[in-house]
Amino acid sequence: MAKSRDKHTCAFCGAEPGQKKGVFFIPSMYDGLDICSECVCKGYEIISDVQGRKNPAKGKNSPIADLNVPSPQKIKAELDRFVIGQEQAKKVLSVAVHNHYARLKAKFSGADADLPEELADVELDKSNVLLLGPTGSGKTLLAQTLAKMLDVPFAITDATTLTEAGYVGEDVENILLRLYQAADNDLERTQIGIIYIDELDKISRKGENASITRDVSGEGVQQALLKILEGTVANVPPQGGRKHPNQEFLHIDTSNILFICGGAFVGLDKVVKRRRGRRVLGFGDNAGAEKKAVEEDTDNVGKLFSECEPEDLVHFGLIPELIGRLPVLTALEPLDKAALVRVLQEPKNALVKQYRRLMAMENVDLQFTAEALEELADRAVQRGTGARGLRALMEKLMLDIMFTAPDRKGKTRCTITAEVVRGESGPVLERA
Ligand code: ADP
Repeated sequence: MAKSRDKHTCAFCGAEPGQKKGVFFIPSMYDGLDICSECVCKGYEIISDVQGRKNPAKGKNSPIADLNVPSPQKIKAELDRFVIGQEQAKKVLSVAVHNHYARLKAKFSGADADLPEELADVELDKSNVLLLGPTGSGKTLLAQTLAKMLDVPFAITDATTLTEAGYVGEDVENILLRLYQAADNDLERTQIGIIYIDELDKISRKGENASITRDVSGEGVQQALLKILEGTVANVPPQGGRKHPNQEFLHIDTSNILFICGGAFVGLDKVVKRRRGRRVLGFGDNAGAEKKAVEEDTDNVGKLFSECEPEDLVHFGLIPELIGRLPVLTALEPLDKAALVRVLQEPKNALVKQYRRLMAMENVDLQFTAEALEELADRAVQRGTGARGLRALMEKLMLDIMFTAPDRKGKTRCTITAEVVRGESGPVLERA
């Protein structure tokens, strides 16, 4: 039953005039509905908080207001410093990321209010991205570099660890928790972050005509991903793990989170080739020539990937709804030997630069001959893991030097030659 109140108590907290120091009363025209100044302030805080959440730019210190959105050309130039090759993917990503954050900024700062009337109501779709490319070609590196450049939180997850709710494995919402942690538990920053979902190809349906009963690792997870990719307010358990009825949840709005998905999509080239083959079968005067051209492309896996269309992804086993939520599609090329040599020495944090710096701290002037770099690249190509293999090769190569150098007195020099890489001779530390 409602508590009966004295005419002069606060209708919200029940405080009486004079009970709290410095608190005064605002009378209303109805008996018993006065309010104390303390409750007015609390009410103001609640309203600001709710408004701030709905429209972060209007809240104090909104991360969107502080966001610096470079032009696509500037984004591309920054990616060039870290990522070798992949020109088309860099261009596509630069545009997608610029559009995504420019849209956010305009929406929250009210800058889109000046648009011509016929465009004012046009809703912009989110430009989530799907990167197709072999392992070690730079998919994660691209996503990571973008997040660093924009200074937004970034989280990586592996689609194969996810399961739809109710099965053993990670709930899809846990991806969001990881982003929240990367944002130092700042909800507003979380909501404008970037999530990279690797190995999306591994949750494809087993066949295009898979049964309607859901398979745990495949279509069910795709369905679970759909919602967060499109934009929803997800209930995330703050400690991770399973949802529990009595738990307090974090409410994370995913509508402004940019999702970049990636996968090697092994076999997708064959799907593309089959489609192209079907299209030229027996139609038109040029059919013969076109068919020949298709056949000549057989070995050009990179080219076939770059010609991938959404329908090929459906044939591969992604559900059409998920593809629809990844409207920006681009392919990365496998890195050849020449590209791997560049990866070794050109990027800002190239492996050669890293090891030279590490050794310089031990007074060693470390040098690599051009042949040594080619030999390393050759070996990485043989491993078939792209640039990923370079790090392991380097680590093995440098082990002995890193083991002995710290005990050497004075300045020394060490030159890594092709023979050293091939294991025909050991690396030598000479007095400089
Ligand atoms: P994936 O395509 O499998 O996601 P990653 O982006 O994780 O590959 O690459 C693994 C490592 O290889 C990265 O840390 C990076 O150092 C290097 N790397 C891969 N591709 C490139 C590239 N195009 N340019 C420079 N470094 C690259």
